[in-house]
Amino acid sequence: MRTSSDSTLPAYDALVLGAGIIGTSTALHLQQRGLSVCLVDWQAPGSGTSHGNAGLIERASVVPYSFPQSPLALLRYAANRQTDVHFQWRALPAMAGWLWRYWRESAPGPLEQAAQDMLPLIERCVTEHDALIQAAGLQNLVRAAGWIDIYREPAAFAAAAADARALAGRYGLQADVLDSAALAAREPALLPHARMAGGIHWLDPWTVSSPGKLVQGYADLFCRRGGTLIHADARSLRPNTSGGWQLATPDGDLQAAQAVIALGPDAPELFRPLGYALPLAHKRGYHLHFQPSPDAPPPRHPLCDSRAGFVLAPMEQGVRLTTGVELALPDAPINRIQLTRAERIARQYWPLGQAIEAEPWMGRRPCTPDMRPIISAAPRHPGLWFNFGHAHHGLTLGPASGRLLAEMMTGEPTFTHPAPYSAHRFL
Ligand SMILES: Cc1cc2nc3c(=O)[nH]c(=O)nc-3n(C[C@H](O)[C@H](O)[C@H](O)COP(=O)(O)OP(=O)(O)OC[C@H]3O[C@@H](n4cnc5c(N)ncnc54)[C@H](O)[C@@H]3O)c2cc1C
Repeated sequence: MRTSSDSTLPAYDALVLGAGIIGTSTALHLQQRGLSVCLVDWQAPGSGTSHGNAGLIERASVVPYSFPQSPLALLRYAANRQTDVHFQWRALPAMAGWLWRYWRESAPGPLEQAAQDMLPLIERCVTEHDALIQAAGLQNLVRAAGWIDIYREPAAFAAAAADARALAGRYGLQADVLDSAALAAREPALLPHARMAGGIHWLDPWTVSSPGKLVQGYADLFCRRGGTLIHADARSLRPNTSGGWQLATPDGDLQAAQAVIALGPDAPELFRPLGYALPLAHKRGYHLHFQPSPDAPPPRHPLCDSRAGFVLAPMEQGVRLTTGVELALPDAPINRIQLTRAERIARQYWPLGQAIEAEPWMGRRPCTPDMRPIISAAPRHPGLWFNFGHAHHGLTLGPASGRLLAEMMTGEPTFTHPAPYSAHRFL
């Protein structure tokens, strides 16, 4: 962190606002292309949503997380008794327009288009992370052994196995379909009396044992390579008199030719005052760590219970239980209901020890209704750029999105056409 009290700070080629996985990756890619870059956050890098996720670099998530379509599923969710999705009734009127649009975009045709549009980013997620992991020396945080989707009910497992085979065939993914014996061999601590039906082991994804440390490690690499990291509030960003951008810091005004908004769920605090009505909503999610049980090790792989929407992931801090989606107003208090329900289900098949923290961590996934991020020039402000809205897959997509935006900002040929991610689609 900069500590100088000099009020005439050097001018940069680019300010990157937000040091989550998206901003930090963007800063590294701009720096790699020869720009002088200042990365700005009011917390330590990787302390926002990027801190607490399930740690999946999700190469197998080729179809975005969509809104359920079948009337039966909608009825089930309407009762608000599910573990994977929970909503605060008071939030629904405020979110109705956004949810309606999300529902329409989740119909088979638009969802297929969204999957095609996301594929160029998803396909590169592991290779782009790998380049940064090697350069930053963070191999100790990462495993290339995939994750396992587990099923208790035979019918649900049979349907998932058929879907997995089709998806793997279509997209060239590697998946082992495990019957109950094969699942028990791969995860020997699963409780035998739980009689699991089986699992799908997705082999292409990588997993991270501390996502926050990974981002901090990427930020350290950025600083080692000569980048500047500054602790400041990004909301003072203003156009300056020379056609660039300036930001007030306790040490004086920062000046730069270009600026990137990469504030994840807080991006509206900056783009709204600039006149952009982009539909960015939050889907909340929680985590809590558990000690491994005294007579069983942590899971060998992250285990996902798709029906209940949670992941049990072996992390540095313990076994991390991450929840599905909560729709709530920004000022809504923490609601432990999904954690409580998920813990009860998890204990039926996994020997968890005591909870480590008294209070859960809560994060906000920054989501657009068409399930694509916004990686784009700001339509009405030269030199201003957007990189946010990565929803359920921000950890996965950070380095690929950072590369794409850096290529756009420096006028390089882009590895994929950026049109599907343009802010223009909402304006
Ligand atoms: C429970 C849960 C599980 C998840 N699991 C996965 C997973 O397994 N794999 C995956 O790919 N994704 C996962 N995600 C999604 C992923 O975590 C997010 O998409 C991603 O972290 C978003 O990154 P970001 O950089 O856009 O935002 P953030 O990480 O939130 O970064 C934004 C940064 O901006 C800073 N900031 C905000 N306002 C200001 C301001 N005014 N001034 C200065 N700085 C500011 C914040 O301090 C923060 O550091 C999960 C999310 C949740 C909630």
